[in-house]
Amino acid sequence: MTTYPPEVLLWQALFMFQTHIESRRQFERDKATDAFRANLGIISGNRLEHIAHIDTVNYFMAHLNPEELQKVIRKNIRDLIRSKVLDDFRFDGNFLVAVDGVCFATFKHPHCEYCLRRTTDGVTTYFHYALVAMLVSPTGLVLPIEIEFIENTPDKGKTLSEKDDEFKKQDCELKAFYRLVGRLKEKFPRLPITLLLDGLYANRNVIGICDKNNWNYFISLQKDSLPAFQKAVASDLKKHPENTWQHRTEDCCRTFRWTTVLHHDFQKDSQKKCSPQPLLMFAIEETEDFFKTKTKRKFAYITNHRPSRENIMELIHEGARQRWKIENETFNTLKNHGMELQHSYGNKGYCLQNYFLVRFIALSIEQFLTFSNGMIKILSPNTILPSREKGISLFGSLKQMAKRLLESLRNDIIEIIDLSNMRFSIFSG
Ligand SMILES: [Zn+2]
Repeated sequence: MTTYPPEVLLWQALFMFQTHIESRRQFERDKATDAFRANLGIISGNRLEHIAHIDTVNYFMAHLNPEELQKVIRKNIRDLIRSKVLDDFRFDGNFLVAVDGVCFATFKHPHCEYCLRRTTDGVTTYFHYALVAMLVSPTGLVLPIEIEFIENTPDKGKTLSEKDDEFKKQDCELKAFYRLVGRLKEKFPRLPITLLLDGLYANRNVIGICDKNNWNYFISLQKDSLPAFQKAVASDLKKHPENTWQHRTEDCCRTFRWTTVLHHDFQKDSQKKCSPQPLLMFAIEETEDFFKTKTKRKFAYITNHRPSRENIMELIHEGARQRWKIENETFNTLKNHGMELQHSYGNKGYCLQNYFLVRFIALSIEQFLTFSNGMIKILSPNTILPSREKGISLFGSLKQMAKRLLESLRNDIIEIIDLSNMRFSIFSG
């Protein structure tokens, strides 16, 4: 019997996502070359007689504690932060961290005892969800920091009425958020953070946690949330008409408004008991008025970044509105650009969770390759490209890069290059 070290099996799983192979069966065919075996050995630091069958990789994924892959994700971001290559991405001194939930597996039948359940028109669906904290930036660079799975506790041994109760009290995004930010503070205690959150998080607990952790935040303010606070905002805006600024371009007029500091007592907004200690908050908003289409869009946020005429546009454009990067640049890339987020590569044990995490490690590597000058320096050192040209320009698209990587792994033996004296940078503009 052949045994394989964990790093070999992990690299095999990583290659499956980095080369954008759509199924395990296809990967079994594509990896069957001597060059692929030799390359896997070189990268994982092992001499390999054989490549593991995908069932062996699955067995490993089913049994590996997902926390081990979380450690890889954390180490990666910690190394990048410490080496200061991400310093140009800071916003007002902070790293922008967007948090959002994503569904990554759906079943018609119960898949495991941790599945979330939803019943619509008498039909119950079972699914798995995760809450993801990503470092985001205006350039489109996105890097995972922390991931929390949204899962039910098993209802083994419970009575039917207890199970029914459990059904009503399922795990949810907000509960997972408190676990996620607890770990974020524990693992990155001194990291200066601005959280980017949607309207679900406009509550006293979330804002109180930010306050206690010395974090900044931008939280979307929806029409129907926090009515007492919105009343105070309307009154403050009326009292201070000077807190308005307009910016006109050829096709659009942008009107920005912001409040003076408001000390909000959340008890006025909540049926439930909450701390009477008021919190300092600002409300900021932007209305876009498009001339050609005669359409208007409004964005409103709660924040503890202090707004002024000088910084209001930057706060909204380079801060608050960066939240969409987690949907567009992260989840969309994972779903539609080769990583097959909702395709199941294995359902047993921790397979779902671990393949989900491996995709994020693959995404981090892909992000580094596309947003840094690393590939240009290594592959084409004599090419003089404009300083902002990204690595992706050597290939044209992510799809082409993945295709070329697969061809290369199958056909050419990796040449080891000494990188110790090379300095790489990630483009921030
Ligand atoms: Zn399940």
